Amino acid sequence: MLKVFHCDFHIHTCLSPCAELDMHPRAIAEKALAAKLDVIAICDHNSSENVPYVITASQGKNLKVFPGMEITTIEEVHFVAIFDSMSALESMQEYVYRHLTGENDEKRFGVQAVVNEKGEVEAINEKLLIGATDISLNVLLDYVHNLNGLAIAAHIDRESFSVLSQLGFIDKDMPFDALEVTPFTGLAQARIFYPELENYSFITSSDAHYLKDIGTALTKIMLEEPTLTELKMAFSRQNGRRILE
Ligand SMILES: [Zn+2]
Ligand SMILES: [Zn+2]
Repeated sequence: MLKVFHCDFHIHTCLSPCAELDMHPRAIAEKALAAKLDVIAICDHNSSENVPYVITASQGKNLKVFPGMEITTIEEVHFVAIFDSMSALESMQEYVYRHLTGENDEKRFGVQAVVNEKGEVEAINEKLLIGATDISLNVLLDYVHNLNGLAIAAHIDRESFSVLSQLGFIDKDMPFDALEVTPFTGLAQARIFYPELENYSFITSSDAHYLKDIGTALTKIMLEEPTLTELKMAFSRQNGRRILE
């Protein structure tokens, strides 16, 4: 039976230098539940080291957590990749780290903390996570799809780090599974602003960097269960699965 799931596929943790330290795995799971979200994806900049802890923190609760990452391409385009298993995400991570250079400057960008489900600091990541990989968008999208993941163009309505700001256009053949807009634009306005993108599914996400952001945006999706296969169907409007706009 199909039912409506409240989804937010773009939530950062304290591993992202620009996110607050209060964004630790257990706090995120608790806040997502309090905000009545059913499905979330954890997407830190070019990294996924806090994902397993958010999954552990959500175990036994009514919250599905998809493993994910917000990847920066060589063109400085941000996109969100989500997977149905940690092993797929780990393969993606290995590839991204191989193509990411530089060291974080904590004073300038912020601390990048790996924190477990108990709130204990496991490690400080010293890579330049806020930087760009040296791989092009097309190659990265193929890599995600080869791992059976979904690729969502992030915040296309933002004036920086979006496909539109960096490339100037979204070709209707670009293999994005969906396009994300910020809650400031929202789905109804996105349809008006981007008529040329009518073939794509739109979603809206919080892109939460602070606990207070969780629950400020969600996408309602009709699914039988919260799996990546079902989501794929919803993004391509198959078998009654769909996004409620
Ligand atoms: Zn972004
Ligand atoms: Zn983000």
